[in-house]
Amino acid sequence: GHPLFRDMTTTIFEKMSMRARELGAINLGQGFPDGPGPHEVLEAAADALLTKSNQYPPMAGLPELRSAIAAHYARHQGLDLIPEEVIVTSGATEALAASLMALVGPGDEVLVLAPLYDAYVPLIERAGGVAKVITLTPPEWRITEDALKAAASERTRLILLNNPTNPTAVVMRDGELALLARFCAARDLIAICDEVWEHVTFDGIGHRPLMAFPGMRERTVKIGSAGKIFSVTGWKVGWMCAAPALAALLGRAHQFLTFTTAPNLQWAVAEGLGKPAEWFAQMRADYQESRDRLAEGLEAAGYVVQPSAATWFLSIDLPASGIDMDDVTFCERIVEEAGVAAIPVSAFYPDGTVTSLVRLCFSKADGVIDAAVDRLARFR
Ligand code: PMP
Ligand code: GLN
Repeated sequence: GHPLFRDMTTTIFEKMSMRARELGAINLGQGFPDGPGPHEVLEAAADALLTKSNQYPPMAGLPELRSAIAAHYARHQGLDLIPEEVIVTSGATEALAASLMALVGPGDEVLVLAPLYDAYVPLIERAGGVAKVITLTPPEWRITEDALKAAASERTRLILLNNPTNPTAVVMRDGELALLARFCAARDLIAICDEVWEHVTFDGIGHRPLMAFPGMRERTVKIGSAGKIFSVTGWKVGWMCAAPALAALLGRAHQFLTFTTAPNLQWAVAEGLGKPAEWFAQMRADYQESRDRLAEGLEAAGYVVQPSAATWFLSIDLPASGIDMDDVTFCERIVEEAGVAAIPVSAFYPDGTVTSLVRLCFSKADGVIDAAVDRLARFR
């Protein structure tokens, strides 16, 4: 293949889902819910498909959806975005690609925090940038000023963050966000904040957007995804929000990536974002129950799990569980021998670090969680 593609192997999510299909395993690897999604949102998509235009929507998104996103963030996160500051993309993945393509120049350094979502480093490198990886340590995964300072140089232009964080399932504390804001302002950095998990937080923890911190309104790109908010990961409707000067740059990258996104899905997401606060609270409560079900089941089977404050994921700590295997070996063995697919957290380190953490997805029906726990209990 082309030499540029030597470092781009097939993503772990596709690999593990293929393995699960091949072996008929229960798939707790790739993150997706096994429910149908909220009926009214699905119905709105079906209605729009039949009653609205199916031709190219405006490049930056349907005006109705851009307004709905701005209004949603005013209501839920106290932000003061105007619709012109919102660009609709084909999933958060496209928003990440577009923002990096727009903002990274040759040799620009981009700070990232590992463990990190596997798309980040290949996208930074394809944009001509250099990823500077700050490695966080369990179980707290906290960001420190010393680590930021050590990783930064005069070539640093951006920081790419994910909060709440996949796969560690942490929500950054206000103190950390304030530190990041001070750091970005002092060094004149732009922050790309991947907040796709913003609504999926537990135990009463709320999400605070980095954009709301002092000095960040003009220098943050805030990325969201309807796939996570409405449990419809196949829809690939996402967005990026930024002050007008930044948004103009982002729009130029977006126009040559996908230009636009399926209009009926945009209508449906616009409708869904207007749901009352109780709807979002119920969604969180339901996933929190699933989290507890998986955590308690695994603990009863002798596994030790890390806390999960957000996302659809929790991780088994292998050494703490008395299992003397690295995560890659464990995942290979449980998919083959127990019939459960999971994701080795090693996949979230760009430098080949091997971990002893195994990520499991709990956005599943109770029966599926119970069956997976049963299989993992018998594997021990
Ligand atoms: N960022 C993070 C941190 C994610 O976890 C995911 C998907 N799980 C994405 C981006 C991609 O989102 P989308 O499917 O909307 O492209
Ligand atoms: N983000 C999902 C996860 O973390 C996977 C998305 C994908 O497969 N590209 O599991």
